[in-house]
Amino acid sequence: MVKRIEHLGIAVESIEDALPMFETLFSSECYKEEVVESEGVKTAFIQVGESKIELLEATNSDSAIAKYLEKNRGGFHHVAFEVDDLDEELVRLSKEGFRLIHQTPKDGADNKRIAFLHPKSTKGLLVELCQEKTLDSI
Ligand code: ZN
Repeated sequence: MVKRIEHLGIAVESIEDALPMFETLFSSECYKEEVVESEGVKTAFIQVGESKIELLEATNSDSAIAKYLEKNRGGFHHVAFEVDDLDEELVRLSKEGFRLIHQTPKDGADNKRIAFLHPKSTKGLLVELCQEKTLDSI
């Protein structure tokens, strides 16, 4: 079951350059920066009310963020929904005919297990599903 919008992912050329503006915009300081090596991204999180903004910077030219920025200006990249059981949701969505980028959950930033759906099956919207890591999901 989907519980809420966990965060919005925003692609930027440079976190160092973009972060001060977003911190001022939301009057909230970045609480965590983290590199996700497997995805080729550096992330920075800002709490915004009950949700978060995740800034994404490419760490290499093969990164999905680098490819995104070749075709698009920086800005909105993906929406992440928190689910109560990620494995169950992936099975359900797969049965419903959604294309999954990740067939099984992988480690994401900010203590999450994550999986992305392919935008071709979601009308162009890049959707991330995430679940907080707990002792029994590790
Ligand atoms: Zn995300």
